[in-house]
Amino acid sequence: MMEDIELRIEQLRKELHQHNHKYYVLDQPTVSDYEFDQLLKKLEILETQFPQYFDSNSPTQRVGGGITKTFQTKSHQYPMYSLDNTYSKEELEEWEKKIAKLLDSDAKWTYTCELKFDGASISLTYENGKFVQGVTRGDGQKGDDVSKNLKTIRTIPLQLQGDYPPFFEIRGEIMLPWSAFESINSAREKAGETLFKNPRNTASGSLKLQDSNIVAQRGLTCFLYALAGDNLGVDTQMEALEKARSWGFKVPDSAQHASSLKAVFDFIGYWDEERSNLPYEIDGIVIKVNEFEFQQQLGYTAKSPRWAIAYKFQAARVESQLNSISYQVGRTGAVTPVANLTPVLLSGTTVKRASLHNADQIEKLNLRLGDTVWIEKGGEIIPKIVGVNPDKRGDVSQKVNFIEHCPDCHAPLQRSDGEAQHYCANSMFCPTQIIGKIQHFISRKAMDVEGIGSETVVQLFESGLIKNLGDLYTLKANQLLVLDRMAKKSVENMLQGIEASKSQPYSKVLFGLGIRYVGETVAKTLTKSFPSIDQLKDATIEELTAVNEIGQRIAESVFDYLQQDTNWQLIQHLRDLGLSFEAEADDASANGPLTDKKFVVSGVFENFDRNEIKKYIETHGGKITSSVSKNTDFLVAGSGIGPAKKEKAVNYGISILTESELVSLVTGK
Ligand code: AMP
Ligand code: ZN
Repeated sequence: MMEDIELRIEQLRKELHQHNHKYYVLDQPTVSDYEFDQLLKKLEILETQFPQYFDSNSPTQRVGGGITKTFQTKSHQYPMYSLDNTYSKEELEEWEKKIAKLLDSDAKWTYTCELKFDGASISLTYENGKFVQGVTRGDGQKGDDVSKNLKTIRTIPLQLQGDYPPFFEIRGEIMLPWSAFESINSAREKAGETLFKNPRNTASGSLKLQDSNIVAQRGLTCFLYALAGDNLGVDTQMEALEKARSWGFKVPDSAQHASSLKAVFDFIGYWDEERSNLPYEIDGIVIKVNEFEFQQQLGYTAKSPRWAIAYKFQAARVESQLNSISYQVGRTGAVTPVANLTPVLLSGTTVKRASLHNADQIEKLNLRLGDTVWIEKGGEIIPKIVGVNPDKRGDVSQKVNFIEHCPDCHAPLQRSDGEAQHYCANSMFCPTQIIGKIQHFISRKAMDVEGIGSETVVQLFESGLIKNLGDLYTLKANQLLVLDRMAKKSVENMLQGIEASKSQPYSKVLFGLGIRYVGETVAKTLTKSFPSIDQLKDATIEELTAVNEIGQRIAESVFDYLQQDTNWQLIQHLRDLGLSFEAEADDASANGPLTDKKFVVSGVFENFDRNEIKKYIETHGGKITSSVSKNTDFLVAGSGIGPAKKEKAVNYGISILTESELVSLVTGK
């Protein structure tokens, strides 16, 4: 009977691995999503019932759930080199001459041309067809073990197929396609969070997230391009790619064999044009000597193989017309000019606008309305204007006159000596600034108010319900229920979220105030040196700059802010409402009794509502995760908790706490 079950589980896993490969790697599913989900559900149920057959490579492990607190450092068995690079065809010719000198005179080598994927490089280890671990490049000798996060990437096979060697490493790039990148950023924009800069940074940042649940949702993919190991049974790079593909890896079929540099140049020419149509970013072409025999003879320098080189593309550049300039006011009052352009396609996205930063920038470029401008997308998401095409300047071009009044509240703009930026000084009443400040205040890294988004803030402001940060805390259900699109449930969530935010530590409150130049790190530094807001207010500029990392600019900004009556009144008001302006809470979360412990909260509680109990745990250093896994330390169980969750916890040997046991754990009583 038990053997039957084990067989059944294995069978299901095998089927799911195959469907996964067909769907994600080959893009040719043979079952519907529904059928796939049903199979997965069956497996999940069996695995929960029979935890003795747990397998960390099971298809059920794809959804994430594991937390990695610190990533272990692992050595690469075969070092991960970087690549020499060049921007010119002449240098490629020189590279070929060097190869000719190093190899025997009768050597007949050829090349492979591959795309240079712009992501985060990774080395995966497989043993007997099973995924064992994945390590980042790090310094080339050793990197971080990010296996748990990698498992959530569906294009990385957990179980291989075909005639794979018993042990090998395979190298590739973790990529975030443009579409996934854009949807992450649009969600961040809605939540009032800062936008990610580019897919590459987002991909490598995602690999280092502690919570694999979030990684699973990022939409990462993995392209493979190199094998490392002994006795792999392949003699050329082209064969290696072919084999890896047959074992179930995603090996893009853009790679091409080239028997001469002429063919390499053709490949480069083709992709220099075509790359803008790719759904992901490449930053060049990698050319490799195809035959492993010759690769071996050529060997490595300290940094890179002599048998490979990267040809990098110039940053993508297109021309467009500057039609007008708009001005945006930020939450600190900074006014940023934005160029409105005739829409044009650039590296896979349509560009309509470009940042101009400030008045100096406009002057430096000598920009005039109607100009034909060059636009580049470097590593940044927002493209920039890098120059004006002088040959195309018509007679009708018009000088740009930087605005003198705030586009929103019409207050006169100010620009201090030595500052490049113009500011609207009307910080208390300028609508855009107020909305921006509140949006910043509620954002994840500040007060982390759940149940309220950036658009709701606009709605609340426009309906006259909130005019400053303090008004958030006096909102009443009956005021909210009459607004458009406000259901009872969302009003409840919102009020709960606002209430729960009162337990955010002082450093987050200070950051949330949105004082110019006080970012997250600066806020932490300040709260460490000045453990209460009163001490911070009493500090002189000299005392402030005496703190490591606090420069003159920050010191003056903090000092000026706290000396202004209106600001100080706001702080008093927030303090009366119960917000923390003292450093205690911070210490608790760093060295509290729950520090580093992982909690799952489930059910209904007597003295806390769900959000409160989560905040309570976090304030004392605990981490909340959404589902029970073997990494969970405690399950806090209220009434009405599902039996499946409880059973899972019992199976993993996780401690189950009642509400009062949790409180005892914190208070030690
Ligand atoms: P660089 O970081 O500029 O030194 O370039 C070397 C990196 O290019 C490698 O570490 C890989 O992460 C990456 N790369 C992207 N595509 C390829 C490819 N097809 N072959 C080899 N390396 C590649
Ligand atoms: Zn204004």
